[in-house]
Amino acid sequence: MNLFSLAKSFPTEELALAFWIKQRWPNGVRCIACDHDKCYLIETKGKTGKVYRKFECAECGLHFSPTANTIFHDSHLPLQKWFMAICLMTEGKKGISASQVQRHLGISYKTAWHLCHRIREAMQEDKGTKLGGESVTVEIDEMYVGGRKRGTGVKAAKNSKTIVVGIAERDGRIHLQTVKSGHSRHVRTVVSENLNKDTEQVVTDGALKFRGMFPKEQHKAGNHHRELRDKNWTSTQTVENAFSLFKRGIVGNYHQLSKDHLDRYLGEFCWRYNRRGLQPCLFQMTLENMAKRKPLPYKDLIF
Ligand SMILES: [Zn+2]
Repeated sequence: MNLFSLAKSFPTEELALAFWIKQRWPNGVRCIACDHDKCYLIETKGKTGKVYRKFECAECGLHFSPTANTIFHDSHLPLQKWFMAICLMTEGKKGISASQVQRHLGISYKTAWHLCHRIREAMQEDKGTKLGGESVTVEIDEMYVGGRKRGTGVKAAKNSKTIVVGIAERDGRIHLQTVKSGHSRHVRTVVSENLNKDTEQVVTDGALKFRGMFPKEQHKAGNHHRELRDKNWTSTQTVENAFSLFKRGIVGNYHQLSKDHLDRYLGEFCWRYNRRGLQPCLFQMTLENMAKRKPLPYKDLIF
């Protein structure tokens, strides 16, 4: 959905709310405490005189907001602005920065930053999603991200950066995730959590850490010199392309990312990459996840 069709579909807050309610409870509203199926829509006035629409449960009497217990939880921003932000984040191929969302929606930077992180949270793959499988070739590699260099030398440069492991199916999905260190046991944990054991072939570079990580018949360790001479030789081009696409996104849009939130940015990038043929449905898919995911309070995001 683009901004124009969004503005046309939801000209009023009531229409946006009705759409959200249908999205969250496709089979009718249910109480969030006792799961009773009879709830009435009521209107209450806040301290400032603003009208709020809430549901009242016929069984336990609980008053709850249509956005309670979802990622929208506790937000005072109109749904129309939320929808607009979701649209901006899903339409931009490389994502959009909080300061740009701030300018587009006319809200404070803090609100925009929190809003973007919550939408980003809905743009993450479900936990336990595994890549690879029978007759699939997967490439695995590492990249170093960001960090200001303290001290001199290669070691100092590497220490200041965060290591990201990339797993990529050829012509398929990708998964990027930070690791504690480049040590083989840390890399192995990420790989085993995200790679299907039945994967036909795993291609890596010649790094020692990958030796012994996979059964011999499954593993193929590449060699950059041979790649240059022989194009058919095994290469990790798919995963390296994903790395460079992510890095270009950071430089172009975010300029700097906090190390603490890097995994969420990586998750957003992979989610969008894995749905590259489904652009028109991304708004709807994100909204579905907004209803499923747990609230993400501001205090949980600042360390
Ligand atoms: Zn109830």
